[in-house]
Amino acid sequence: PSALREVPIEIPAVRWDDIGGMHSVKQALQEAVEWPHKAQSAMSRLGAQPPRGVLLFGPPGCSKTLLARAVASEARLNFLAVKGGELVSKYVGESEKAIAGLFARARSTAPSIIFFDELDGLVGSRGGPEAGGGGTAGMSERLLSQLLTEMDGLLERGGVTVLAATNRPDCLDPALLRPGRFDRLIHVPLPDRDARVEILRVQLRCCPVAADVDVELLAVRTAGYSGADLAAVVREAGLAALEEDLGAEQVAMRHFETALRLVAPSVQPSTNM
Ligand code: ATP
Repeated sequence: PSALREVPIEIPAVRWDDIGGMHSVKQALQEAVEWPHKAQSAMSRLGAQPPRGVLLFGPPGCSKTLLARAVASEARLNFLAVKGGELVSKYVGESEKAIAGLFARARSTAPSIIFFDELDGLVGSRGGPEAGGGGTAGMSERLLSQLLTEMDGLLERGGVTVLAATNRPDCLDPALLRPGRFDRLIHVPLPDRDARVEILRVQLRCCPVAADVDVELLAVRTAGYSGADLAAVVREAGLAALEEDLGAEQVAMRHFETALRLVAPSVQPSTNM
């Protein structure tokens, strides 16, 4: 038995509508992931090559994971998600076996998506700082080459899409970004004002708000906030309403004021890539 857990297979239940803003990212994902599954013959008729692997990159908390789940859900693809570090084993050969097993399961459950969250944690740069001393460097080298072999092997088969996300594209081994590997890069940026309005509307769906709550104004006042930060603001506003009155039935603008004082943007402007 392997020391590494088997990756569960699911079709997630996230709709495009559950993700505020990000319209061009959704469009790019549909083209890169959904079309090759749905319109294979049309694509080959026009000589359009689907990307082999798709990499979502951008600051944390900006919906990369949600987007991956949504594209699987909307295209009805089986979804096998792994976090970078989860496949890393200290036992020689285990990680490579886990990767091979993962791709085998994806092929047997095709049409499917393998999603590597935090790809940098799986395979950092070979020369990079996390390669560290001898043992670790050797391990990530073998893991990387196993991953590349599996991706190259998908060439003829179709039916399996490889999707990955990272906050640190600069830490990835350049071999991963060559043609035929992760050859479609999609930037998932911090939300702009319009996107923040949409994200807040999504997050306020289940939150009864008082008439004085001005979502447009909240969007103006949350420049630099990620989607995850906005979720925290909504959560804190709800808590502030309850703190004031345990019987509260609505969240008012003053509760959002309190929340804005408590929740600061988590992403430094310089890391918006
Ligand atoms: P990380 O890099 O930290 O893994 P991520 O980019 O994968 O982050 P998610 O995990 O998808 O981000 O988002 C975190 C949470 O933030 C989501 O579960 C959701 O509650 C909220 N969120 C982020 N972006 C959006 C959005 N565009 N619309 C609605 N909710 C969002």
